[in-house]
Amino acid sequence: MGKRYYCDYCERSFADGAENRKKHLASVHHQKLRKTHYDTFQSPSLLLEENNAKRPCRKFHQEGHCDYGSCCKYSHLTPEDVQKLQELDRQEKLAAAIEKPRVEPDIDEWVKSKMSKIEKLSSSSTGTTTLIPVLPSVLSNIPNIPPSLIPCKSSDVFHLNKEAPHFWS
Ligand SMILES: [Zn+2]
Ligand SMILES: [Zn+2]
Repeated sequence: MGKRYYCDYCERSFADGAENRKKHLASVHHQKLRKTHYDTFQSPSLLLEENNAKRPCRKFHQEGHCDYGSCCKYSHLTPEDVQKLQELDRQEKLAAAIEKPRVEPDIDEWVKSKMSKIEKLSSSSTGTTTLIPVLPSVLSNIPNIPPSLIPCKSSDVFHLNKEAPHFWS
C-alpha cells in the first residue's frame, strides 16, 4: 500500500506523489477551499478593502451561484455581508483601542529605576552613600536588642568606605 497524502483544506486524501500533489494543489476546488480557510483569518477591514476593489459578480447575484466561488474575480458579497463586515471591523477597531499591548517586565528597566533612586539619595547630601538605616519603632522599644539588629551609624558607613581600598590592594 502506497503512502497517502491528506489535504487539510479539502479534508480528503489521495495517493501521494509529486504529480498527484501538483495536480491537486493547482485544482480550482483546492484553491477555493484554501482561500476560504485563510479568509477566516483575515481582518474585516482587509476583506472590505479587497471587496471594494471588485465589481459585483452578476452571475452570483442573479443566479445565486457562481462556479468560481471565493476565487471569483468579481465580488460575491451581498449588501448584508458588507454591513456585517463593517460592523465586525468597527468592533475590532474598538477592541484594539481599548486593549493595551501587554508589556513584558524588563529587568534592565527595573535595575535602572532602582539605581536612579539610589543615586538621587546619595547625591542629595555629601555624595557618599547616605542610605542611613533606621531602626523600626517596634524594635526601638525593646531593651537590650542584640547588636546585630542595631543599625549602623552613617559614620560607620564612611569608615567602611575609607577602609575598603585596603581589602583590594
Ligand atoms: Zn486540497
Ligand atoms: Zn462569481
